Amino acid sequence: MPREPLLQSPPKYDDDRDLRPQRMQDMVGQREVYARVRIAVEAAAKRGEPLGHILFDGPPGLGKTTFATCIPHDLGVSCQVASGAALAAPKDLLPYLTNAEERSVLFVDEIHRLPKAVEEFLYPAMEDFRVDIILGEGVNARTLNMRLRPFTLIGATTRTGLLSAPLRDRFQMREHLDFYSLPELAEIVTRNAKKLRVEIVDPAAAEIAGRSRGTPRLANNRLRWVRDYAQAKADGTITLPVARDALEMLGIDVLGLDPQDRKYLETIGRVFAGGPVGVEAVAHTMNVAPDTLVDEVEPFLLRSELVVRTPRGRKLTPNAFEHLGISPAIDVKTAGQPRLFT
Ligand code: ADP
Repeated sequence: MPREPLLQSPPKYDDDRDLRPQRMQDMVGQREVYARVRIAVEAAAKRGEPLGHILFDGPPGLGKTTFATCIPHDLGVSCQVASGAALAAPKDLLPYLTNAEERSVLFVDEIHRLPKAVEEFLYPAMEDFRVDIILGEGVNARTLNMRLRPFTLIGATTRTGLLSAPLRDRFQMREHLDFYSLPELAEIVTRNAKKLRVEIVDPAAAEIAGRSRGTPRLANNRLRWVRDYAQAKADGTITLPVARDALEMLGIDVLGLDPQDRKYLETIGRVFAGGPVGVEAVAHTMNVAPDTLVDEVEPFLLRSELVVRTPRGRKLTPNAFEHLGISPAIDVKTAGQPRLFT
């Protein structure tokens, strides 16, 4: 009788949580943010008071959630996690507020997606630790004032510009997370290779770091893929050629751009003759949501000076044309025509 295939649960370390630092001291990089948050955390712990509300902003995968989960760990308090997108009405937020223990942390991810009514419900909770609940309707409506236990709100957003000024101003600390340097990412890759129990040589760690768009989450994803590749196609050790071959196979180029990033650049270069062009037009042409481009694709390309924002829209820089191997002059003539470059 043929043997049943052995069903194995996926390796337990294939989960973001296992690579996520548990305490702030285990976090790599973001030294200035770390230093400021550390002072606030230590002072709050010494006073026995709740930490002031903190807002983290920055592109996805840079450590907003990691900070938000390390802080309560370091303070020794509990943490509740909610997502701005899921809090459609004040009643959705109320259980989180009433369940918040003294000095605990409430982490609201994507806080820019809170509807106005929920945001306004949050103001007195943040300021005075109370909520105003309206009972009944019309002339019979009454306001019930409910006290909350003092807590800390940690908000995370990829779009600080979408946050209303009154909400932004109610955070005592506002910290911006920036892209990581190559040595910092290489350090993250080396540490996480140990956690994944895979051997990696330093030049390979540097190669993965260099192709991770300054983003720890991408460095982790790429490391996992390279590990799989090393185990399937080589002897399990991540050497420089193994790392390069594995990343090439995913279509990740020397700058760390993935096929979607390149498609964005190529669309502006080919279809819109290098720009300037509005992001909506690029998104429609690529058949993706404009938000995906603004949140996930553009920040690194802007930071790397491959694209610039002008009052009339996005424009490729000479660096982008060089990276794509196309000439701006040829492109202007052939705008809207089938691609000519390779
Ligand atoms: P964000 O909330 O900004 O989208 P996360 O905090 O979820 O990003 O980070 C994604 C992953 O990147 C985490 O699971 C963690 O493994 C890794 N990471 C982020 N920041 C750091 C850091 N400073 N040091 C080490 N690893 C990090």
